Amino acid sequence: MKSIGENVLQQFEEIVGVAHALHDIDLVSTYTTDWTGRFQGRTPVVLRPADTQEVSQIIQVASAAGLAVVPQGGNTGLVGGSVPLQGEVVVSTLRLNMCEPVDLLAQQVTLGAGVTLSDAQHHVASFKLDIGVDLAARDSCTIGGMIATNAGGINVVRYGPMRDQLLGVEAVLADGSIISHLEGLEKDNTGYNLPGLFAGSEGTLGIITKARLRLHPHLPERCSAMLAFRTIEDAVAATAQLRHSVLGLQAVEVIFRDAMHLVSHHISASIPVGSHAEAWLIVEAASDSDPTEQLAIAIDNLGSLVLDVAVGQDPATRAGLWQFREKITEAIATQGTPHKLDVTLPASRLAQFVTDVPAVIMGIDIGATPVMFGHLGDGNVHVNILGSDGSEPDERVDAAVLDYVAQLGGSISAEHGVGTAKRDFLHLNRSATELGAFRAIKSSLDPKGTLNPNVLIPPENQ
Ligand SMILES: Cc1cc2nc3c(=O)[nH]c(=O)nc-3n(C[C@H](O)[C@H](O)[C@H](O)COP(=O)(O)OP(=O)(O)OC[C@H]3O[C@@H](n4cnc5c(N)ncnc54)[C@H](O)[C@@H]3O)c2cc1C
Repeated sequence: MKSIGENVLQQFEEIVGVAHALHDIDLVSTYTTDWTGRFQGRTPVVLRPADTQEVSQIIQVASAAGLAVVPQGGNTGLVGGSVPLQGEVVVSTLRLNMCEPVDLLAQQVTLGAGVTLSDAQHHVASFKLDIGVDLAARDSCTIGGMIATNAGGINVVRYGPMRDQLLGVEAVLADGSIISHLEGLEKDNTGYNLPGLFAGSEGTLGIITKARLRLHPHLPERCSAMLAFRTIEDAVAATAQLRHSVLGLQAVEVIFRDAMHLVSHHISASIPVGSHAEAWLIVEAASDSDPTEQLAIAIDNLGSLVLDVAVGQDPATRAGLWQFREKITEAIATQGTPHKLDVTLPASRLAQFVTDVPAVIMGIDIGATPVMFGHLGDGNVHVNILGSDGSEPDERVDAAVLDYVAQLGGSISAEHGVGTAKRDFLHLNRSATELGAFRAIKSSLDPKGTLNPNVLIPPENQ
């Protein structure tokens, strides 16, 4: 860990106040370990700035002292990108939690980077508006972290990922200068799209301090259904049909067998339908008028593809179905420290991948178990690999699975980002020329490598 002199520490304390420069080991431990417990780092200090100016001053001091910085939001990221693996200074954005008034004319809002998703949802709800991205970590994950990872979640099938919600950002660059483009113009062809560049940049190009987001009309009428399938192929075919026939399709989530049995045990609730099925979809339709009939007709048209169906119309029954999806990550965490591989496959290869991947994994580590679920509407499968007895699986399983994904024409990161966990595999999806372009962007915006140096971009010799 690069030592940080008394003088530098004092400068940091003067910027944020002593109470917001944490170095006591007990206080910093939640900032140095990631959500999965797999990635643990160390830091000389965690800084909790109150506004953009303080972030800018921190970065100027860090850059002058040759210190690297890891931006951190809710620390719910799943690829080890938010923790200081090489003793970096942590800049926590949690105090950048200001919500500006909702702009009803434009149906947009400007939010501080540290606002949690659930606070953002509550802020806009009274205007009958929604944030386009929703995910199970909503109570902790922040708007800044969601932009930095280009988070996806359960409604991508309808609204797209975080990048599609983004109309502008304010951010502090690696030399402490501030860019701010928050006017929220829907049409603005004045050169490079910097907000788009920040989406998925994982803290490597700047620290996002505010964002201007597009909002969507809240659709109060909802219907959810859980569908059980005999085969994975049937679930994939049904997804394609539902995407075609349900106009108000809000979500199409998938739970494969091992994940369903694990979550059912974890929440002490029996599987609502098809206890011997191979795969289950949770489908939701949303509209301003009751979508139940439209969804029921679409499900009926799936005919013998479906083994059995449970429908939830009222909020309590819908929540009862959704808990099987929302509690899976938590259920897996109770079993040990998994390797989390979040991948996308072309629809035509998805069933093949899910069927073959257990053998790919066990060919390397006979004691490892895959637990799979995901967002089937987007071809996104979360492959969680648990080692025997809660230990981590053999390191080589990651390479085997990601190689197989690339062979099938898929992406090694669908929505969680690259972080440190997948940095060495980026070449599977990105050509040498693309990686060269990434490095050129990084070095022109951050020539000293101040910002999150351990993530996303592999070292040049790889
Ligand atoms: C139970 C659970 C469910 C999840 N479900 C989903 C899901 O459905 N879809 C999905 O996409 N993800 C999901 N995730 C992953 C995670 O919630 C997302 O990646 C989220 O976007 C991370 O936000 P965060 O604020 O916690 O960021 P952090 O974990 O703090 O940081 C993530 C990355 O963003 C960078 N960063 C954070 N804030 C900033 C900032 N202000 N400026 C610049 N860089 C920054 C960090 O350096 C790091 O590289 C889930 C996680 C959990 C624990």
